[in-house]
Amino acid sequence: MKKDENCLFCKIVSGEIPSKKLYEDEVTVAFYDVAPQAPIHFLVVPKEHIASANELTAANSAIVAHCFEVIVKICKEQGITDYRIVNNCGDQAGQSVKHLHFHVLSGRDMTWPPG
Ligand code: AMP
Repeated sequence: MKKDENCLFCKIVSGEIPSKKLYEDEVTVAFYDVAPQAPIHFLVVPKEHIASANELTAANSAIVAHCFEVIVKICKEQGITDYRIVNNCGDQAGQSVKHLHFHVLSGRDMTWPPG
């Protein structure tokens, strides 16, 4: 599995940097965002280092389906029915950590369009 030794989320995946984990399996880890933008805000990340959505191909895109299954599983377990899934891809879109991740935000009204 690909890793990047300088990547913050690879370090969270390996446990080198602590996080408030709420789910883990062979493919993904989910943990609470350190700077929550909603009453509920967690991240689902693949364990494999994929820099962004722009790096997805037919060879690795099954990971995305798995991430979404994990999101649904966590939300069902926690009784979360209304939520927003966000992926920021690239600097201009606001991606600050270059390891693919999906934000799950819930617990407040969401605005649209996003800023
Ligand atoms: P993005 O800006 O879309 O790349 O999202 C990166 C997210 O990672 C931001 O919402 C940050 O608050 C969050 N974040 C950064 N460092 C940590 C950390 N050590 N633990 C949990 N979340 C983090």
